Amino acid sequence: MTAHPSGPPRGGRPGDFESLQASVLFCNRCRAPQPVRERLLLVLPDGELNEYLCAACGASVGSRKVTAPPPLLVR
Ligand SMILES: [Zn+2]
Repeated sequence: MTAHPSGPPRGGRPGDFESLQASVLFCNRCRAPQPVRERLLLVLPDGELNEYLCAACGASVGSRKVTAPPPLLVR
């Protein structure tokens, strides 16, 4: 009796790679889309300003403001 595999030899794990939020942005210095690293740039009263650095050359390729929920005012 010969067992035929009913699927691809490599068992895929759906959702495994989705945990890696790899952001790719266009780098002007590299002139190509590059994976970026997110770095905290500034801490604002209403959130944080994150900067995206090119993982290849380290140039700044963009920024993103992350707004945090306003803190509850306890009187
Ligand atoms: Zn670059």
